[in-house]
Amino acid sequence: MDGKSSDLVIIGAGHGGVELTAALRQHDFAGSITLISDEPDIPYQRPPLSKDYIKRAANTPALVLKPENFYAEHGIDLRLGVSATSIDRAERTVALSDGSAVTYGHLVFATGARNRTLAIPGLDHPDTLELRTLADANRVVRALERVKRVVVIGGGFIGLEAASLLRAMGVTVDVVEMVPRLMQRAVSPTIAAWFLDHHKAEGSTVHLSRTVKSIERDGGVRVSLSEGEIIEADAVLQAAGIVPNVELAAECGLDVDNGIVVDSLLQTADPHVSAIGDCAAYPSVHRGQMARLESVQNAVDQARAVASRLTGQPKPYADLPWFWSIQGSARLQIAGLARPGLTEVVRKGADDTRFSVFLFDGDELICVESVNSPADHMAARRLIGSDIKLTSAQAADATFSLKSLISA
Ligand SMILES: Cc1cc2nc3c(=O)[nH]c(=O)nc-3n(C[C@H](O)[C@H](O)[C@H](O)COP(=O)(O)OP(=O)(O)OC[C@H]3O[C@@H](n4cnc5c(N)ncnc54)[C@H](O)[C@@H]3O)c2cc1C
Repeated sequence: MDGKSSDLVIIGAGHGGVELTAALRQHDFAGSITLISDEPDIPYQRPPLSKDYIKRAANTPALVLKPENFYAEHGIDLRLGVSATSIDRAERTVALSDGSAVTYGHLVFATGARNRTLAIPGLDHPDTLELRTLADANRVVRALERVKRVVVIGGGFIGLEAASLLRAMGVTVDVVEMVPRLMQRAVSPTIAAWFLDHHKAEGSTVHLSRTVKSIERDGGVRVSLSEGEIIEADAVLQAAGIVPNVELAAECGLDVDNGIVVDSLLQTADPHVSAIGDCAAYPSVHRGQMARLESVQNAVDQARAVASRLTGQPKPYADLPWFWSIQGSARLQIAGLARPGLTEVVRKGADDTRFSVFLFDGDELICVESVNSPADHMAARRLIGSDIKLTSAQAADATFSLKSLISA
């Protein structure tokens, strides 16, 4: 095997991997960095893929995470279109799909996740649309030249963002969700109910508590649901969640449990190996247990934490999780991590399209979900986990200034 050596090897050039390279150079890390990406494109942002990228007819340059010359200028050996295929931890070597190998001083998994594929007859077909990569989004753009009716499988963030986008482009949309609530894993019942109305108002048909039984193709697609409904459409978009890319880590003997297991410093049991972002399961102080999050903030802040550690400033990772989703005219922002059993307090805005749900555990504020209320969201990011006490009565009182509480 052709070999080279690198002080740091990062597998995966998504939000986490690229941020890690930038943060290391900002911390004056002088070592060599190799960044391996199995995708062919200059590393790009994923959130726009299910938002305005498709509508504005595919503008790739606007998506890049860093300008193309960033990598050479910062001495980063970016290897595009090459995957890491195996790791020998004793030899500290990563084997690559082009037959070469690279030896590392430290290795970081930033391998992200891939779309979950459901075992539905007819779904495993080249015409099934997805949204995870730039290539997926470009396939959707091309499909929209002929497709006028789409069945979206999955009522999570990406499926719903896509539903809004497609409706805005005049496409007929059916969303099929297995459980009785939209975004069930991630948001409170109040937010889920509001978004159900929102998507209906946009013109999507939402089928809750339904699974797709089969998909038949004969020119168009015929989608059969579990309760007997048949939907005639032109295409199916699969958005049924993701699974972390952990196989490579498991194969080289690292601990994997719904993600590559790391400690509070984001290091695996092997001191020469770390993991960040969608692929990493870490001890969350905000959840009080292991968590694996799927967000840009998580990938970026974990990358910064690892960069600090690798340049001599280790600090347990404790950043507050936050997230956003844009579904048509509704911008949802979440600060903190919700869990079942929290008490909901609604703070109303100027009209029905603006409000926040404050989620308390006793008198402790745990999470805030805001719809078209960025000021509430920004205040929540300062309040959660801080010493400042917000009572549920203050949260519910729209005339009470959250800002004044923070700046007091
Ligand atoms: C359509 C879409 C919309 C989203 N919208 C939002 C949003 O609005 N807000 C938000 O906070 N988050 C959003 N997310 C989630 C967010 O993009 C992810 O949480 C984030 O990209 C995670 O970053 P990461 O670096 O962990 O992984 P990724 O960005 O997924 O990058 C991982 C990279 O590693 C590569 N890789 C995997 N295995 C190998 C290997 N063996 N060799 C080489 N390369 C490998 C993958 O191909 C990929 O390129 C969205 C995601 C998608 C797909």
